[in-house]
Amino acid sequence: MNSKRALVTGGAGFLGSHLCDALLAEGWRVIAVDNLLTGRRANLEHLRGEPAFEFVEKDICESFDVGRVDYVFHFASPASPVDYSLHGIETLKVGSLGTFHALDVAYKYGAKFLVSSTSECYGDPLEHPQKETYWGHVNPIGPRSVYDEAKRFTEAVTMAYRRYHKVDTRIVRIFNTYGPRMQLNDGRVVPNFMKQALRGDDLTVYGNGDQTRSFCYVSDEIDGFLRLAKSDESLPVNIGNPDEFTIRECAQVVLQVTGSKSKIRYEPLPQDDPKQRRPDISKARQLLGWEPKVDLATGLRLSLEYFKKAVAEETAVK
Ligand code: UDP
Repeated sequence: MNSKRALVTGGAGFLGSHLCDALLAEGWRVIAVDNLLTGRRANLEHLRGEPAFEFVEKDICESFDVGRVDYVFHFASPASPVDYSLHGIETLKVGSLGTFHALDVAYKYGAKFLVSSTSECYGDPLEHPQKETYWGHVNPIGPRSVYDEAKRFTEAVTMAYRRYHKVDTRIVRIFNTYGPRMQLNDGRVVPNFMKQALRGDDLTVYGNGDQTRSFCYVSDEIDGFLRLAKSDESLPVNIGNPDEFTIRECAQVVLQVTGSKSKIRYEPLPQDDPKQRRPDISKARQLLGWEPKVDLATGLRLSLEYFKKAVAEETAVK
């Protein structure tokens, strides 16, 4: 039994809670911290009574100390365009103040540190696919800037603590990830389409649906995090699935997996919606021996039961 303690900020979120599970499975003692702004207790319900796990409800925009830890996984932040538009100031604060406080914990205890960054650092990219060396094409004052710039600042603070305080840091740039525990109403394309398909509603494709995204199933994503956590790589590493789909194609896969007869309805494209997104994962392949294994149709099939249950629960409440 590994008695080492890991802190996961944003531990009640979609990715944070899966990360807690994976760390517990590896024998860590895990402390999840979350202010439940977009995270949910339900994501951790299965860990109730687990002796190696502790949940602390706390806003990390205030400084905090949960005692000695050996690893800090900093995952706290709203992450869907709907959530960060709704909570723009909180998103900027957690990416800045929250990151200082998470790094202060790592600095105090000499803990290792891994932070979740994002493909949003590349903005609406002019380089395709995106390599880690690309500096991005980001609108600093547009509606997405509360997230994009917060995460770019997060990376800057992380590198500063590495340079000035010698904190042992890692940065993962996460591309679109999906799977069970995604919030049904977080506005992201996979939960939206799954919900609409299962209810028999129209699938809302924004713009003409030619924009592309590359979707990574959650188990692949978490495997990438753990490999990076154990590596010595301090510069950002893309972890995402390089299979690229137009949003129209994504809608077709959802219809096929759910067997739904829903139609597609076209709606206006949100401002600054990136036209293309696909990770170059050469670095993760070479450095971590990591490669995603689950294709989109398989991952959606694996997520189907979860989305069916979530839709049924929402319908029952109404
Ligand atoms: N999208 C869509 N219909 C929806 C939700 C999203 O067409 O109901 C599009 C959105 O405009 C974007 C892509 O799907 O081009 C992915 O959006 P999401 O919000 O999942 O994440 P993003 O990659 O933009 O952060």
